[in-house]
Amino acid sequence: MTERTLQGKLALVTGSTSGIGLGMAIALARRGCNLVINGFGDAGGIARLVASIAGEHSVQAVFESGDLSKVADIENLMKRCADVHGGVDILINNAGIQHVSRIEDFPVERWDAVIALNLSAVFHATRLALPGMRQRGWGRIINIASAHGLVASAEKSAYVAAKHGVVGLTKTTALETATTGITCNAICPGWVLTPLVQKQIDVRMKEKSITPEQAKAQLLGEKQPSQEFVTTEQIGEMAAFLCSPGADQVRGVAWAIDGGWTAQ
Ligand code: NAD
Repeated sequence: MTERTLQGKLALVTGSTSGIGLGMAIALARRGCNLVINGFGDAGGIARLVASIAGEHSVQAVFESGDLSKVADIENLMKRCADVHGGVDILINNAGIQHVSRIEDFPVERWDAVIALNLSAVFHATRLALPGMRQRGWGRIINIASAHGLVASAEKSAYVAAKHGVVGLTKTTALETATTGITCNAICPGWVLTPLVQKQIDVRMKEKSITPEQAKAQLLGEKQPSQEFVTTEQIGEMAAFLCSPGADQVRGVAWAIDGGWTAQ
């Protein structure tokens, strides 16, 4: 059984109703961490998900809504975490979206939406979480960047710009907290088979009239030398390590977990 090393801590994982965020929330719950789950989805499904995590891992788990592309929603979410749930010890900035298009065709409102959620929301949640963490003398901020925070791909200008920005913001946050018990690091996954990537597989199947298996193989073949998807469980384990005392001096890194993508 996994040791309950995070018993009594509270983690806010943004965008944790699905995919990587959910994987990390479960990994922390296994270590006894209480959770604030956030993200979109149907209310009944989310309620069942939250209850099942709480029941299975004997932790407190609550859902707090909020469209994190809106500053007012982030401020409201962070205030509820502080006032109602006792303050965020672990902030995982994970919510993110993608839009694929060449720069000259990139819809301006999609650029704004990607930057607002994938980059600005990380700044806003961080600035609002830091005072409580400083007061308690301990904190963990984990920003989910991407292999696209380290290298680029064509047709992903907003995403690549936002994720490179997140890596830079991670370093600045780490420097401003370097003499405290608060650490800030980024995780940079390669391809993970979540709804965000499934959409890209669906487009490829349609455009090229190929099977799901062929589309997945193409996606991996272009970028990920291992030819295997990274799993949400593996990213959860990395996040859990970053929350452990062993990672007290891991500060300001952008940690790839990408099947060799950025080794090339
Ligand atoms: P996903 O689509 O499965 O999950 C995204 C989550 O964010 C969902 O819970 C969704 O409801 C939530 N969300 C979307 N818009 C939101 C908003 N405006 N406000 C609040 N919540 C919102 O995607 P995922 O693949 O799990 O992606 C999670 C993070 O990991 C993203 O930041 C993404 O860029 C990053 N990432 C994903 C991959 C991959 O291959 N899947 C690779 C590298 C990085």
